[in-house]
Amino acid sequence: MKIPFSPPFIDDDVKNEVLSALESGWITTGPKVKSLEFETAKYAGIDHVLCVNSATSGLMLVLHWLGIGRGDEVIIPAYTYCATALAVMHVGATPVMVDVKEDFNIDPEKVRAAITNKTKAIMPVDFAGWPCDYNALFAVVKDPNIKSQFKWKGEVQQKLGRIAILADAAHSFGAVYNNKRTGSLADITVFSYHAVKNLTTAEGGAICITMPSSFDNADIYKTLRLWTLNGQTKDAFSKNQTGGWRYDVVYAGFKMNMPDVCAAIGLAQIRKYDRAVWQERKRVFEYFSREFSNDNWAQLPAFTNNDSQCSYHLYPLRIKDITEDLRDEIIERISKAEVAVNVHFIPLPLLTVFKDLNYRMQDYPVTYNNYSREISLPIYPQLDNNLCEHIVKVVRSAVKETLEQ
Ligand SMILES: *Cc1c(COP(=O)(O)O)cnc(C)c1O
Repeated sequence: MKIPFSPPFIDDDVKNEVLSALESGWITTGPKVKSLEFETAKYAGIDHVLCVNSATSGLMLVLHWLGIGRGDEVIIPAYTYCATALAVMHVGATPVMVDVKEDFNIDPEKVRAAITNKTKAIMPVDFAGWPCDYNALFAVVKDPNIKSQFKWKGEVQQKLGRIAILADAAHSFGAVYNNKRTGSLADITVFSYHAVKNLTTAEGGAICITMPSSFDNADIYKTLRLWTLNGQTKDAFSKNQTGGWRYDVVYAGFKMNMPDVCAAIGLAQIRKYDRAVWQERKRVFEYFSREFSNDNWAQLPAFTNNDSQCSYHLYPLRIKDITEDLRDEIIERISKAEVAVNVHFIPLPLLTVFKDLNYRMQDYPVTYNNYSREISLPIYPQLDNNLCEHIVKVVRSAVKETLEQ
């Protein structure tokens, strides 16, 4: 039985919504994108969301808007996907990596220790969909001692008066922290709607704009939207209406807008997200945790406490007391049984681009320890309980064979 790692969730509603975009006579940024922005905002319990063509470009755009560039530092976890760091590098700033905690998320005390007078932002990552400790992170950036050494540059930073928290929520659409949904937890949050994420538009991202009350978030939405469309005052949709031809270009903007054909996929999914996606991922996650709680070699991932809930994006199983080589052997055995698994992620300091910049794995021991024992199991709505049972059997025997050889 072949089990793929992460096929997209495509049902008749998705097909019909995409067909409706194709037949409407308008396929790029227009009414479907507006609707997806509205639905995303409603879901997160906020007012202003801007859709873009990827989370990576969304993060770059926000960093740029925050006035972050050459000479500035942005603190990120060492345990994340490369895009978190690359977005920082693409605006000319330096990613400063810190270690994570046992739950895979950035360690607020390590963040505190890494702050210098060049630090302009922190980019926490809700790993696997488990929200970071945002209360602790805000306590750090609002600490009077830390605020007093903040050196602002430009209007936005001056108004904020402290280090910004820009959440990389690529994994955590639908997660809850302190009874609030992700998207509402940081100064600005960016979701990924990439094909393998919980909610998808094939490629895409959403910027949730929730700056403190001294900012006009509606106005930020308008500004950022211009930036995604070459800085052009009238988008192609408006120009397509009669009499709407005249426009100006007010910034040297980027091209980061989401097409309507893509938005249609996400729009059909978001309307039934809780029932058809989140609940079903939760079912699979709980199935695995229930089963593996009987295995003393298994270390189960965090998923809920009193006021937090995972988005169930990944199932990052860890095997206790094994080496990276043994973990790799287990994966080989699982793969031979045709169950697709992955490792999330290869820590940034092990990748050539970051090694060449002198980041060193030994500086992030918890990251390495988590990584060396991690195997991500398939988790998606299409996995019924029989398939889950099959995956558990395959994983169990792969671990047993490896440990007992
Ligand atoms: C997927 C991912 C991204 C990038 O998302 P794109 O939409 O593909 O740009 C960023 N950060 C993390 C942690 C991710 O997993």
